[in-house]
Amino acid sequence: MKKYLYLLLPLLLTLPLFCSCEKNVYPLSATEFMMDTVITITVYDGEADALDSAMKLCKKYENLFSRTVETSDIVKINNSNGTPVTVDPETSELLKIALDIAEKSDGAFDPTVLPLVELWNVTKNTTPPKQDKITEGLKSVGYKNIHIDGNTVTANNGVKLDLGGIAKGYITDKVVEHLKQKKVTSAIINLGGNLYLLGNKKGEPFSVGIQKPFGNSDQHSAVLMMENKTAVTSGVYQRYFKHNGQLYHHIIDPKTGYPANNGLYAVTVVSDSSSLADGLSTACLLLGTEKATALAKEYGAELIIITSDDQLITTDGINRNTKKGETVLNLK
Ligand code: AMP
Ligand code: MG
Repeated sequence: MKKYLYLLLPLLLTLPLFCSCEKNVYPLSATEFMMDTVITITVYDGEADALDSAMKLCKKYENLFSRTVETSDIVKINNSNGTPVTVDPETSELLKIALDIAEKSDGAFDPTVLPLVELWNVTKNTTPPKQDKITEGLKSVGYKNIHIDGNTVTANNGVKLDLGGIAKGYITDKVVEHLKQKKVTSAIINLGGNLYLLGNKKGEPFSVGIQKPFGNSDQHSAVLMMENKTAVTSGVYQRYFKHNGQLYHHIIDPKTGYPANNGLYAVTVVSDSSSLADGLSTACLLLGTEKATALAKEYGAELIIITSDDQLITTDGINRNTKKGETVLNLK
């Protein structure tokens, strides 16, 4: 069977896990558990230390953006009780991107959704929280309470940040920048399903399998051909529990306090910027097809949407063909 890169964790199974210990024998690949997920970077050329330094870079950003690392900028903001906090310029940059997507998505993407994320805690809980707790949680959500002035961030009214919906994308962009500086022209950067395909593979575009929601890890709904682009998927099948036949997943609607429940199973955003694609994919999963399409257009991004009734919807910039019974997607 032909092997594809998969957008989500199963990607690990399909990547060549070569060791980086033997210098300059390409491809070189490294895998580590970071940011609560598995990250794999594979380089096909470039300077000898490109891979190791890229991994170190990921660690540096995890230490800045994590909501569980005590010394991170995000924890400092979350413990600040409304006092202005001086942060790293890159934290400020990431927050500005997050707030822009929050604004343009009319608050569907909201980096202050943390109280609800913790309340639902879908990887541990097996029953939904009580309505009064959800109502209470909703009172502490609101991105408009975050103010950025240069590198100073103020979080008013007790709001707390969770950049889980966008940080991996931002870090992906920084890794790509770094690899280019290290003369890498061909690489796969996969931060827990946040995928960037740098260059191509021996002149051919990379093939990325868009995972079939709730399918086996190697089942895909389509194959996307791409180079020098990022593809980021948000899906209801990634982290969830079921209660009384109802699915409760990890992407929470900041308006209702409940996980999105609009008939979309997965949204993949294809774009030049992974920060954007990451934030947008989370937002689009909440917005539904029509509003998601309009938002993607505003940002010049393309979407691949899979619905609960197994429809595959693509935006105007994507060509669809069928080859050997498979749906193959190309960017126009
Ligand atoms: P993703 O997999 O990129 O869609 O991000 C999902 C993660 O983003 C969740 O695990 C939460 O940490 C966070 N999150 C959940 N709901 C939202 C939301 N409405 N806006 C922003 N971040 C969210
Ligand atoms: Mg996201």
